[in-house]
Amino acid sequence: MTTMKNQPGPGPSSPDYLQMSLAAAMTLNLKEGLFFRNARLYCLNLLLTYPGGCMGNCSYCGLQKSRDGAFAEKSFIRVSWPTYDLETIIEKTLENRHKLHRICLSMITHPRALEDTLALIRRFREDVGLPISVLMNPTSMTAADVAALRQAGAQMAAVALDLAGEDLFDRHRGAGARGPHRFAHYWTMLAETAAVFGRNKAGCHLICGLGEREEELVQRIQAVRDLGARTHLFSFYPEKGSRLAQDLPCPAGQYRRVQLARFLIDNDLSHFPNMAFDARGRITDFGLPPEDLARWIDSGRPFMTSGCPGGGLETACNRPFGDGPPSDIRSYPFPLEAGDVARVREQLGNG
Ligand code: SF4
Repeated sequence: MTTMKNQPGPGPSSPDYLQMSLAAAMTLNLKEGLFFRNARLYCLNLLLTYPGGCMGNCSYCGLQKSRDGAFAEKSFIRVSWPTYDLETIIEKTLENRHKLHRICLSMITHPRALEDTLALIRRFREDVGLPISVLMNPTSMTAADVAALRQAGAQMAAVALDLAGEDLFDRHRGAGARGPHRFAHYWTMLAETAAVFGRNKAGCHLICGLGEREEELVQRIQAVRDLGARTHLFSFYPEKGSRLAQDLPCPAGQYRRVQLARFLIDNDLSHFPNMAFDARGRITDFGLPPEDLARWIDSGRPFMTSGCPGGGLETACNRPFGDGPPSDIRSYPFPLEAGDVARVREQLGNG
């Protein structure tokens, strides 16, 4: 399955090889297993792979270059990412196409990433025909490259800003982390992506719990929305082998409040200026009448994974348990049941 022919370096390399999330490998019947409460994945999450790995050095990421070990064996968003050859991936995707609503190609920081991503978009578009998202690597890209992704056939694109503000970004990903990324360039590229792909077709990954205040993160979510983009929210999880491996996730209440604010902002139901915060930056008022807010909480929708849509689902990219284990679900990969809503309600008032 992962034969080693036709590759340029000493290990599997894109575009002939890709890594995929464990959930994706299970969906394609390449790995056995069932998820807790029978969670299903609707987006094939693929990751470019190179023998030298990612050139980034983000403090919270399991793929950081300063971490020992082979790139393909490192974990990322809580799970392993096994490597398969492209032909196997396409064959298995066609066999299981009925289960999927989207494909995502995640670039990493590597000189060949753009050229290979363009080739892969064309190949998946022609051979599989599912909508394609690209999680871009802005550091090695220009505005013209964003347009090239669209021209090649990507339907959506996202920037993993991850941090709410410039100081935190610099500390975790930029000069302060001996990393190559720069906040201003990421923000410019997100604005460019929103302009090129159009309203609601650009996404911004943001992580809750990396030292920011709720107010700061919600303000950023509003700024993303003001560009015409939407936020794909994650709860920080201490990734094994990363520099933050010993840190703790944020309190569940903090994540729940930010999830609720994100849902209201991205669905144009409320705005940051209408919200209120206490002296520690925690949200105290979501800017909606109490009965409306209660209705949205009871729907459970604000607490489900936020990501690119597909197949009539608000989020096709539901990344089961990508930011918390089943015992501490942060982003629900399925609709909430009454017991889940009761738990969330309790968490909203805590922390
Ligand atoms: S939300 Fe999912 S599909 Fe969309 S860019 Fe992010 S990882 Fe890819």
